[in-house]
Amino acid sequence: MAPIFSSFPDKPDHNLLELGILELWEREGTFEKLRELNREGPRFSFVDGPITANNAMGVHHAWGRTLKDVFQRYKALRGFHQRYQNGFDCQGLWVEVEVERALGLNSKREIEEYGLAEFAERCKERVAKFSEVITEQSRRLGMWMDWDADYYTFTDTNIEYIWRFLKTVYERGWLYQGHRSTVWCPRCGTSISQHEIFAGEYRELEHPSLYVRFPLKGREDEALSVWTTTPWTLPANVAAAVNPTADYGLRENGDWVATALYPDEAFVRSALGGELVGLEYEGPFDHLPAQQGVVHRVIPWDDVALDEGTGIVHIAPGAGAEDFELSRIHDLPVLAPLDEAGRMLPGFGFDGLASDEVAEPVIRDLRHRGLLVEAGTIVHRYPTCWRCGTPLVFRVVDDWFISAEEIRQPMLDANAKVEWTPAFYSKRMDDWLRNMGDWNISRKRYFGLPLPFYPCDDCSTLTVIGSREELEERALSGLDQLQELHRPWIDGVAVACSGCGKEVRRVPEVGDAWLDAGIVPLATLGWENPEFVSQGYATGAGKGLTTADLPDHAYWEKWFPANWVSEMREQIRLWFYSISFMSVTLTGRSPYERVLTYEKLLDETGREMHRSWGNAIAVDDAFDRMGADVMRWQFSVQPPNQNLLFGFGPANEIKRRLLTLWNSAKFLTDYANIGGWRPTWDDLVSDPGGELQPLDRWLVARTNAFVEEATGAYESWLTVNVVRGFDAFVEDLSNWYIRRSRRRFWDGDEVAFRALWYALVQGVRVVAPVMPFLSDHLWRALTSPCEDAPESVFLARWPEVPEPNTALVAEIAELRRVVELGRQARSAAGVNLRQPLRALVVEGASLAEGHSGELIEELRVKEIIFGRVEASELRVKPNLRLLGPKLGAELVSVRTALEADEFEELADGGFHAAGHDLSADEVLVERVGKAGWSVAASDGVTVALDSRLDEELVREGRVYDLIHRVNSMRKEMGLELTDRIELTLPEGDRDLLEHQDWIARETLAVSVGLGSELSIAETA
Ligand SMILES: [Zn+2]
Ligand SMILES: [Zn+2]
Repeated sequence: MAPIFSSFPDKPDHNLLELGILELWEREGTFEKLRELNREGPRFSFVDGPITANNAMGVHHAWGRTLKDVFQRYKALRGFHQRYQNGFDCQGLWVEVEVERALGLNSKREIEEYGLAEFAERCKERVAKFSEVITEQSRRLGMWMDWDADYYTFTDTNIEYIWRFLKTVYERGWLYQGHRSTVWCPRCGTSISQHEIFAGEYRELEHPSLYVRFPLKGREDEALSVWTTTPWTLPANVAAAVNPTADYGLRENGDWVATALYPDEAFVRSALGGELVGLEYEGPFDHLPAQQGVVHRVIPWDDVALDEGTGIVHIAPGAGAEDFELSRIHDLPVLAPLDEAGRMLPGFGFDGLASDEVAEPVIRDLRHRGLLVEAGTIVHRYPTCWRCGTPLVFRVVDDWFISAEEIRQPMLDANAKVEWTPAFYSKRMDDWLRNMGDWNISRKRYFGLPLPFYPCDDCSTLTVIGSREELEERALSGLDQLQELHRPWIDGVAVACSGCGKEVRRVPEVGDAWLDAGIVPLATLGWENPEFVSQGYATGAGKGLTTADLPDHAYWEKWFPANWVSEMREQIRLWFYSISFMSVTLTGRSPYERVLTYEKLLDETGREMHRSWGNAIAVDDAFDRMGADVMRWQFSVQPPNQNLLFGFGPANEIKRRLLTLWNSAKFLTDYANIGGWRPTWDDLVSDPGGELQPLDRWLVARTNAFVEEATGAYESWLTVNVVRGFDAFVEDLSNWYIRRSRRRFWDGDEVAFRALWYALVQGVRVVAPVMPFLSDHLWRALTSPCEDAPESVFLARWPEVPEPNTALVAEIAELRRVVELGRQARSAAGVNLRQPLRALVVEGASLAEGHSGELIEELRVKEIIFGRVEASELRVKPNLRLLGPKLGAELVSVRTALEADEFEELADGGFHAAGHDLSADEVLVERVGKAGWSVAASDGVTVALDSRLDEELVREGRVYDLIHRVNSMRKEMGLELTDRIELTLPEGDRDLLEHQDWIARETLAVSVGLGSELSIAETA
């Protein structure tokens, strides 16, 4: 007869097992069946934040994608109908920079020489390639999505929706072109917006550190001493700022500095900063053409720092954000020294040199003219470009902005209704919204959202195009070549100015990539779209990549807002911000009701992962070496408000824990095959029936309590509590239930089989969203003998369990705590586990009182006494760190008194000794057993173990050792569990014959005799 259950190998090969399950899901159409099953169910709306289709997935992406999948699977098990739409981010600086690298292009000039049409094709090819790679990797991770119907942000449909948003903000008067100082990446040749600076990295960089003299006009031999780390800004200097309320002093050498920065110096004369304001000085580069006509003077500025430099700040409004603001207040000229590529413009003296190449010639020049006080270097934290890592500079340029003023409060109001997990991130979002500046939406780049702005030089009207239809209506030429709404094709279309009708051209800028991702909750759900267009999302650059539909407005009404979104914490300033900005603007509502956000992924030692540091883990490598379940477990067990330390070390620990689950299932199926036990589906639908013993009843209650606990954890979006709960459940199941029930399985006790099977199957169902592969494998292994069981755990719905018997669960939890303390006490006494002892006193564990029998067995003692632990005594020592300084020479007498136990215990936990009151923290208290007793305590439970041995106990200990040795010998001889033996003891163990029945029973010996040495023989 074939076995009832298929047999288990000794341990799972996670990678192999997972590939097998993937194949099964594919062959059986499990995901499609699940969607069909839930089609009429209530809706759960999740909107996926797009992953950039620009490179292979990283393990940090796998974290977010795991959480998304966990909750989609959980909701599916609860019967919810879902959309399962994955999204790819496809345009903007991300993609451009990678394509430039691949093509070996190093500047915007080289891109233009390469050709924008060709460049756009390369960008699209990269997106097509990596969206496929990411799809494959996501499937391998176990992510269930509607993989053919992904949205791509570079489709014409998505672009049109953004145009519509831009037209709306224009009509509301929020759109403006600003002449602003912006943070600029000289390599990418574009502005970097506020949120992108935060996305970038501050690096420790070495920069020049210069002290320069600005001679004062009309004050012979007096000069301002200024400090700068950006020599390239000196040719653009127009003013020097002092703190008007700070003290300044004139040094012997004639330099003015803030006295706070030179505390040890004597000054010839001193003055308040305010007294210096208005003085004029000779600029460091007055001879340069750009400086002609500039009058340099001292201005007041309250923010001048008095903790570094000289307290006098050099101001170049064309090269710094705060400097630029000061130029507006004090009406200073703005000299902008850098071109797009960060090179010095003509007129600034160092034509064509990059900003960092200017340092040496500037220093030489200043030294030559006697203006240099000192030149050195400084290492400081400096912002770099989030895409290419180049150090950022400031430039004054014309950029397009959306004013945040009117939308700020509505966005705050919308956020107030959002439920954040963990909750305190809601405040982080509020902080960001309160401080957000206007949104800089323009990038001077190529493959991005084309800003639909058509300025007219003649009548100064700005025409903003809101849709493709409108573009076609207004077009004067170029429609015939418009293959998609990207550069260069869009630039070939000329339109009629809405003011005067004259032909106007589009501005060259493209949009911030966060516009592309921000429109998603409107664009993918068909907001205000009059009719459902099948495959209406496969437009423009997205043709052939997807079959996604463009739904109609009724559909949007059903699915907006998202019930839940989840991304990492930095998305507060990026995606959460941009989708909220655009949705609140267009619909007045937050696009999401709940958010789960989480911190950063680091390597297992807590360092950032970098390919160049050799500590990065490629996601494919992780699949092969740890498996997707173990990865998902690492992601899920992580509290979301802390950084995740990810690696193979933690993975091995998880594998070890999963082995306990595996061994428990193997134990059940091995013995069920021997005993011929077959499960029935009915046992799962209700509690298992039959004559349950107390331990079975506990296991069922423990299982039901876990189901309830895990359900609550999923409902609060906290996978960490699901995983921790499962871990504790499996530990109870294996190390309490199975360990204490082994004999019943050897005896083929049907009730025990039924109880254990119930626990395992319910446990696996509940953890399945976290660990889908192993769970479905175990589900299939455990339920295949049941005729009515669904073929996959994901088609089995969520378990419905009766109210758990929580009193019983608490009782055994306390019993297990006593056992744990008893073991601690034994180990502290240095007595091995096999040695029987006389007694254990238990205090503070009233729930465990009915379980003396179990305690006697578990702790191998003769007697359990529930009562006061009087065996304990106090040992009090002085806390020298505190008492040393306090008592001085008196310490000796206090210490002597404490050592001699001459002290009184005070009510507040302190002590009185040698005439001194000592507070609880001034002493170290140890409660120890009296001679021969070992004490352990935690959480209000105290146990005291009598560790004294007598002759009888020692003899019994030897019997246990003997039984253990004989059973090892049986195993070595390859005997079956049921084989009988003849046992011979050495002469020295003659006294053990007193226990020969016991020995025979435990070793399956038919006879116990004496001989020269310990030996066993199989009976004939
Ligand atoms: Zn850059
Ligand atoms: Zn016009």
